[in-house]
Amino acid sequence: AIPVLTIDGPSGSGKGTICRHVARRLGWHYLDSGALYRAVGIAASWNDIDLSDASALVRCTFDTTIDFQEGDDEPRVIVNGMDATDELRTETAGAAASAIAAIPEVRAALKDAQRAYRRPPGLVADGRDMGTVIFPDAAHKVFLTASAEERAERRHKQLSEKGVSVTLPGLLREILARDARDANRAVAPLRPADDAVSIDTTGLSIEAVVERVLALMPA
Ligand code: C5P
Repeated sequence: AIPVLTIDGPSGSGKGTICRHVARRLGWHYLDSGALYRAVGIAASWNDIDLSDASALVRCTFDTTIDFQEGDDEPRVIVNGMDATDELRTETAGAAASAIAAIPEVRAALKDAQRAYRRPPGLVADGRDMGTVIFPDAAHKVFLTASAEERAERRHKQLSEKGVSVTLPGLLREILARDARDANRAVAPLRPADDAVSIDTTGLSIEAVVERVLALMPA
């Protein structure tokens, strides 16, 4: 079987950055599953679909085309032919993604699409249910955590660097609200797979976490 490394965890745990580094070091493909949910959220807003209209959102999931253009830097995400990379990163897109991700038919519709990213020589899959639902047979599973305060600070730094002005307490509130929604929803609540190795990244550098993850892989 084509090897898969799943990396799940809450928002702001550093998953995206860690996964990209690990994928590059291994020479494996990288799936950012959160971007799929975000892309559907953005496509829904482009089409004026209400976030409470589940059946329209399910149709929108089937109608949306999402392409990742891998480069040296952050991959560009093309939604319905348009570069939506920057729009995808906004809190609005994150909140829409989290609302849409609670609809079971949307999750089911994205299942095969996610599994199709499993290609040789291997895949690093980043998300919330990669190790539990999408790739339960993955050979390597990691669950990343970090304190909510640290995750808010990381996000604050990221946004400040981009010139976006937000307050730290406001971000912390948003992160705690999204955590609660992701953990308490009926479908695919965020939890580590039974066979996942948990790594608490609080106080660790990106390089240190990357090394810890790679240390779990066969040489
Ligand atoms: O990881 P990211 O912040 O991009 O994900 C956005 C939202 O999409 C999450 O808050 C979560 O609700 C949802 N999501 C999910 N399952 C995944 C990836 C993301 O439910 N595999």
